[in-house]
Amino acid sequence: MKITFLGTGTSQGVPVIACKCNVCLSDNPKDKRLRSSVLVETDRNTFVIDAGPDFRQQMLRAQVENLDAILVTHGHKDHIAGLDDVRAYNYFLKKTVDVYARKDVHEIVKSDFFYAFEDEKYPGVPEIKLHEVNNVPFTISGDTIIPIEVLHYRLNVFGYRIGDFAYITDANYISDTEIEKIKSARIIVINALRRKKHISHFTLDEAVELLKRIQPEQAYLTHISHQLGLWNDLEKELPSFIKPAYDGLTLHC
Ligand SMILES: [Zn+2]
Ligand SMILES: [Zn+2]
Repeated sequence: MKITFLGTGTSQGVPVIACKCNVCLSDNPKDKRLRSSVLVETDRNTFVIDAGPDFRQQMLRAQVENLDAILVTHGHKDHIAGLDDVRAYNYFLKKTVDVYARKDVHEIVKSDFFYAFEDEKYPGVPEIKLHEVNNVPFTISGDTIIPIEVLHYRLNVFGYRIGDFAYITDANYISDTEIEKIKSARIIVINALRRKKHISHFTLDEAVELLKRIQPEQAYLTHISHQLGLWNDLEKELPSFIKPAYDGLTLHC
């Protein structure tokens, strides 16, 4: 299985529009972060987790020609805004794109992209098929996906485990029952927004503390804001099994 980080930034991305901080002005490519998304290529399927506002650019940059399904974590704009751009896959793959998400996310997608769900559709609108995800494992063409239910302040969000890879974003609480589901994964990705306390995201310390409890072979941080500092500095201060992710990073799992 091959993993590619398509985006590792928080909702505003890095650099932030008009910001002149040292991170936003950094010329290190590892400090340029599109909105969070990851590409998972198994022997059978190509999955993308979340399709935010940078979806088009991310698909172009990673040259993603096949797309079997999009797994959505939650309905916030930075995770779904790019769904209109599945039109390219409708056209080239000649099929509807399968989108897996919680029921509450279906309602948001149907309202944000209402034109794709009308009875009489305007020609050329995105063709999306919504599939409901509950907190039970499900299978897509031979690959088992295990949802991990986490809390993003009061909102229930799904992380996903595929094989030995677990991806969790936009969390600030994970129950012990859900942690059990990811404990044996070799690679765990988790969100770490910044250093200062935040109402709906893990801080750096909270993410590190949680990962120290879980002790995976390797862990990566994502959904990073410009307030977390330069990649080079961050990398040095983390325990050796935790790395800050960056756009374009690929892993084999
Ligand atoms: Zn987000
Ligand atoms: Zn969110």
